[in-house]
Amino acid sequence: MTKFEKIIPPEGGEKIIVENGEIKIPDNPIIPFIRGDGIGVDIMAATRPVLDAAVKKAYSGKRRIVWFEIHAGLSALKLYGNDRVLPEDTVNAIREYIVALKGPLTTPVGGFKYVCLVCAAEQDDVDGKRPDKCIKCGSEFVTPRFRSLNVGLRQKLDLYACVRPVRWFRGVPCPVKNPEKLNVIIFRENTEDVYAGIEFEQGTPDAEKVIKFLNKEMEKNIRSDSGIGIKPISVTGTKRLVRKAIQYAISHKKRSVTLVHKGNIMKFTEGAFRDWGYELAKEEFRDKIVTEKELWDDFDGRVPDGKIVIKDRIADQMFQQVLLRPDEYDVIATPNLNGDYLSDACAAQVGGLGMAPGANMGDYIGLFEATHGTAPKYTGMDKVNPSSVILSGTLMLEHMGWNEAAELIVHGIEKTIQQKRVTYDLERQMEGATKLKCSEYGAAIIENM
Ligand code: NAP
Repeated sequence: MTKFEKIIPPEGGEKIIVENGEIKIPDNPIIPFIRGDGIGVDIMAATRPVLDAAVKKAYSGKRRIVWFEIHAGLSALKLYGNDRVLPEDTVNAIREYIVALKGPLTTPVGGFKYVCLVCAAEQDDVDGKRPDKCIKCGSEFVTPRFRSLNVGLRQKLDLYACVRPVRWFRGVPCPVKNPEKLNVIIFRENTEDVYAGIEFEQGTPDAEKVIKFLNKEMEKNIRSDSGIGIKPISVTGTKRLVRKAIQYAISHKKRSVTLVHKGNIMKFTEGAFRDWGYELAKEEFRDKIVTEKELWDDFDGRVPDGKIVIKDRIADQMFQQVLLRPDEYDVIATPNLNGDYLSDACAAQVGGLGMAPGANMGDYIGLFEATHGTAPKYTGMDKVNPSSVILSGTLMLEHMGWNEAAELIVHGIEKTIQQKRVTYDLERQMEGATKLKCSEYGAAIIENM
């Protein structure tokens, strides 16, 4: 049993455990949650009652979530002090309890030395000293710049798959004619590719060293005034991601898994991703899959009963496909950068990021989270749309096998949107809609379950 420094697990709940390679969910699982910074506080306050109400209704009170608050960002700074924005307690709690829900967290983006965790303003020292107050909002919660807490959590817990389902909810305003035709789940590799952080700034001795090595030893011809980024893609990283995508396709009875890559240009990284993806599919799922080539060579284009088609598409083509033939795609597995672009493009097609849930997953651990940021200008206004975290919560319930509760929530959201009772972001795009606060919208979903 892990000893925590400053948090106490709640009474009355049990731990989710892993047994024989599967997660076992008790009827009263302890689920850690991080409120998050900025609007995180409002959206998490609206979300938990929705999940609780759905579980209560679906299982007549026989099941319930026992919430366990853990801390990152501003709330961690308040509790732990000493600039500790991602305490070990938090990482250990997620590792121990396996399934967790998370609001958005402030991530410094500019080149400044300090960041305010209340308003996300970034700033430098004042007369060579650390500022004791934020220059923008006056808060005392200014910390030295830190690396993204989201990335920190992913790395420490080895959450190698970023999972983003994208579908349309009836009534949501969107830019395409048939938004209902897009219903995909994107498995984006989370640990490799140009996101691995291997970069050398132009003009630095390190960049010069790398350029010299490549030009001299490898006979390349790189301009001396270049910055350099390195794109590692491994057999291990690829196969575990594709495995997860195929397992999902099997357990959710999906028709196909598409490997999206740019292998025509980057043969040994993106092209290799495709090759290793097919290899894994044949090695581990031979009796459950058929490749697109086999489909045409051996089955005249007709999918044999119960088989999942494994196909691949070049990334640029895929952006056309999701607009022109969206219903031909179910599960998508792709390296990090393609997945980043593609998941936002797909989300925009069905009405935007506000309605897009997400999860970061390892072999067993699942950290379910909103896909948007902390929108600090709306902090404490009880204004924004909590759907992204609520839907991440439904994804969490599905991961736990509590599908009936997840369905109730989706139904509640659809009905609320069809009644045109929505938060400001949707209200401004809909004719005759009623604008609800964040908390009112959560209550309306419960009413409509
Ligand atoms: P953002 O927080 O995602 O907000 C950008 C805009 O998106 C908002 O001003 C708002 O648009 C809209 N929006 C975001 N969430 C919404 C919601 N729940 N309901 C309705 N509209 C919503 O992006 P940002 O302002 O660039 O980033 C703020 C901070 O969040 C930064 O520190 C950033 O690094 C961090 N961030 C964290 C995560 C994460 O934790 N996963 C992800 C992304 C960014 P309108 O202004 O049009 O109303």
